[in-house]
Amino acid sequence: MSAELIDGNALSKKIRTEVSERAAALAARGRKPGLAVILVGDNPASQVYVRNKVKACEDAGVHSVLEKYDASLSEAELLARIDALNRDPGIHGILVQLPLPKHIDDHKVIEAIAPAKDVDGFHVASAGALMVGETGFKACTPYGCMKMLESIGLKSLRGKHAVVIGRSNIVGKPMAMMLLQADATVTVCHSGTADLGHHTRQADVIVAAVGRRKVLTADMVKPGAVVIDVGMNRDEAGKLCGDVDFDGVKEVAGWITPVPGGVGPMTITMLLVNTLESAERAAG
Ligand code: NAP
Repeated sequence: MSAELIDGNALSKKIRTEVSERAAALAARGRKPGLAVILVGDNPASQVYVRNKVKACEDAGVHSVLEKYDASLSEAELLARIDALNRDPGIHGILVQLPLPKHIDDHKVIEAIAPAKDVDGFHVASAGALMVGETGFKACTPYGCMKMLESIGLKSLRGKHAVVIGRSNIVGKPMAMMLLQADATVTVCHSGTADLGHHTRQADVIVAAVGRRKVLTADMVKPGAVVIDVGMNRDEAGKLCGDVDFDGVKEVAGWITPVPGGVGPMTITMLLVNTLESAERAAG
């Protein structure tokens, strides 16, 4: 059996078209959605991410402001910029690209963003809203994974067992919470889990968010399972790859996301969705 692909590029394109239409409708009312992206320092990967996010905004008709600062920017200066953006009515989303230079406290900076503009969904208020099922912003990567499941008819996961591998605050934990809210029975695995395969073999849905190649191999997957690969790694040849042994697992799974072209484009797409949502809420 060869799994069907969940094409993140195609799904993103569809959702981004909807975003463009909704952005145009807001702009026609004089309420063009706006995203501020802050980059501190010159981390090469961050520069690429930030460029892609700004380009995605432009393509979708979302106004974007890119603020680039030297790595020597002080924490107080960064907090002051966030405070100004919190009060700027033309800005509906604020994204601070992580990691920040060591002298700046990531947590303090994220918590300084007004929850109403926390389109990355990393603020404690956003995490809390997700936990109790209230309106907030969902972290973009897991939100994108949920949209991928929805695209193959799995909006409800009632009666399904989902296994999340990884428990970071930005991917694994919110992912588990979103799966739970979709009525899945959820198991969260991590580096302290004994016999990972014992858990994954029981799963109807597996989400791998580890950051290590071949964490999930064919022998660890139940035939027909849905496999979502969040990981972004490099193989021996320097090629981008996920956490899943794609060639092996695709012979067993029912559905699988590729890397690249899977979760990656969905993450940026959901950032646009959150920004638009924020602008719509502000417009009333
Ligand atoms: P992270 O903070 O490093 O978390 C990794 C998680 O994997 C931790 O919970 C860790 O367990 C667990 N882990 C490590 N080794 C394991 C093993 N052998 N078996 C089971 N679990 C293990 O990473 P992250 O920020 O969540 O990111 C995970 C991956 O997703 C990375 O490759 C990252 O680049 C990628 N990512 C992709 C996107 C995208 O848009 N596609 C977005 C975000 C992240 P402990 O908690 O016990 O240490």
